[in-house]
Amino acid sequence: MSDHEHTDFREVEVQPTAPFTVELSDDGRWYTVTGPCPVCRVTTVFRVSSGVLGPAKGLFGRRRRRPEPLTGTILVYCMCGYPHAEKPPESPDAGCGAFWDVPVPPPTQGPTP
Ligand SMILES: [Zn+2]
Ligand SMILES: [Zn+2]
Repeated sequence: MSDHEHTDFREVEVQPTAPFTVELSDDGRWYTVTGPCPVCRVTTVFRVSSGVLGPAKGLFGRRRRRPEPLTGTILVYCMCGYPHAEKPPESPDAGCGAFWDVPVPPPTQGPTP
């Protein structure tokens, strides 16, 4: 069961309200960021290329930040998958429009004891 909040779609930067997990894929190409959306409260899973900040296909440059190497945070968009009122049809997002930064943990490569 989920306690999804049916907020109106709004593109707004928010602060995470709970820790997010950031996992690097086995091949090192993707980060998977998982945690609760601060706005609509449902767990959202966001995948991003490990080399570029933001979605792989930045077709909508309106509010996307410029692609750049990861510098310590991942810009995550809500991907709750629930319908939100007031969402523009051209929006590529599958969520409520909220976005926020999640810190990237330092690489855990190297010899293990
Ligand atoms: Zn949301
Ligand atoms: Zn939502």
